[in-house]
Amino acid sequence: MLSWEQSSSVALMRQERAWVEVNLGAIAHNVQQIRSLLSAHTELMAVVKADAYGHGAITVAQIALQAGATWLGVATIPEGIELREAGIHAPVLVLGANHTPEQIRAIAHWNLQPTLCTPRQALIFAEVLTDLPQACPLAVHLKLDTGMSRLGTAWQEAAAFVQLVQHLPNLTIASVYSHLATAEDPDQTIARQQQQRFELAVTQIKACGINPPCLHLANSGGTLSNPTFHYDLVRVGLAIYGLYPSAHLSTTIALKTALQVKARVTQVKTIVAGTGVSYGHRYVADRERQIAVVAIGYADGIPRSLSNQMEALVRGQRVPQIGAVTMDQIMLDVSAVPDLREGEVVTLLGQDGNQSISADDWATTLDTISWEILCGFKHRLPRIAIDQTLSDSVSRRWDE
Ligand SMILES: *Cc1c(COP(=O)(O)O)cnc(C)c1O
Repeated sequence: MLSWEQSSSVALMRQERAWVEVNLGAIAHNVQQIRSLLSAHTELMAVVKADAYGHGAITVAQIALQAGATWLGVATIPEGIELREAGIHAPVLVLGANHTPEQIRAIAHWNLQPTLCTPRQALIFAEVLTDLPQACPLAVHLKLDTGMSRLGTAWQEAAAFVQLVQHLPNLTIASVYSHLATAEDPDQTIARQQQQRFELAVTQIKACGINPPCLHLANSGGTLSNPTFHYDLVRVGLAIYGLYPSAHLSTTIALKTALQVKARVTQVKTIVAGTGVSYGHRYVADRERQIAVVAIGYADGIPRSLSNQMEALVRGQRVPQIGAVTMDQIMLDVSAVPDLREGEVVTLLGQDGNQSISADDWATTLDTISWEILCGFKHRLPRIAIDQTLSDSVSRRWDE
């Protein structure tokens, strides 16, 4: 994998078979747009788990912090360590649950902030930290389950949980939080019920004389849909990358998609009527066709279930993908594109001329969500940081 500095050079980029372009200006723009929805006292956590949804965690974290985010969120300890090793000092919340002494020591060593989900986890943390020489106490975030039925202590038991942690040595409560199950749903009944439970739990916590310094509830959906979900901090992933959690929220702020996926044509050929294409011959030409082999496949993040159901952009035109998507390559029907040459660039996700294909388009075809599509691009493809100007000039160069 190339470093950002190396790979952003156009010369090296021309050797890549396929790559992801990440528009850093779009990330900064999205962070600023999201910030514009928040009151002055509400902080923004950029959620950069899963390698920033395929966009590259270190770079996204740096850009988001420059643009106004003050917290980072990750799912796992290694994801947090990656940020620290890159010299990022902002507070990092680990959203997943961790229990083992090794995990707890790593959290303390790397100055990460854990989520505690049960009284038992809190007791283990306090005990393991007793044996550590370094500065205590550790800032911890207490998770309540208000209706997601995933991590967290039941909201009815919040006060006892928070009281227990309050009295444990080596731990200090940095926040109390919960997670919405249906925030992007136009019908807010369930989200509001979760909010009521959250507020009731907080009232009971305060009745015990404990005032949590920070409360948070909202993901992207909650942040875009309802300012009363914002509290002291919002945890935003998807919207930072320029996608809307739901179509009905797309009028709130103007987001820009940051990720584009491109690959090169590696062979162009003519097939006669009756010729089958790719594994299983799931496409058979009805007449003579020009086809292009493109160097990207399911190991790169193109879902195989899109076989025969997706399009690509070639010289600003939409062309159909044909036959099964294979591990490293796909075929396109380029009969409508005269004299296509090897080495030309195809856009799988992104914009070319006035045509565009988004992760939402794929998600709709596959009956899944754009989050899953983006996370498919965290493995093999090199990532190239661009600003829009460079991208335009690079695609022009290859289209000429
Ligand atoms: C992933 C995650 C988020 C971010 O969700 P988006 O919908 O991408 O904004 C926020 N909070 C928690 C607990 C998460 O796991």
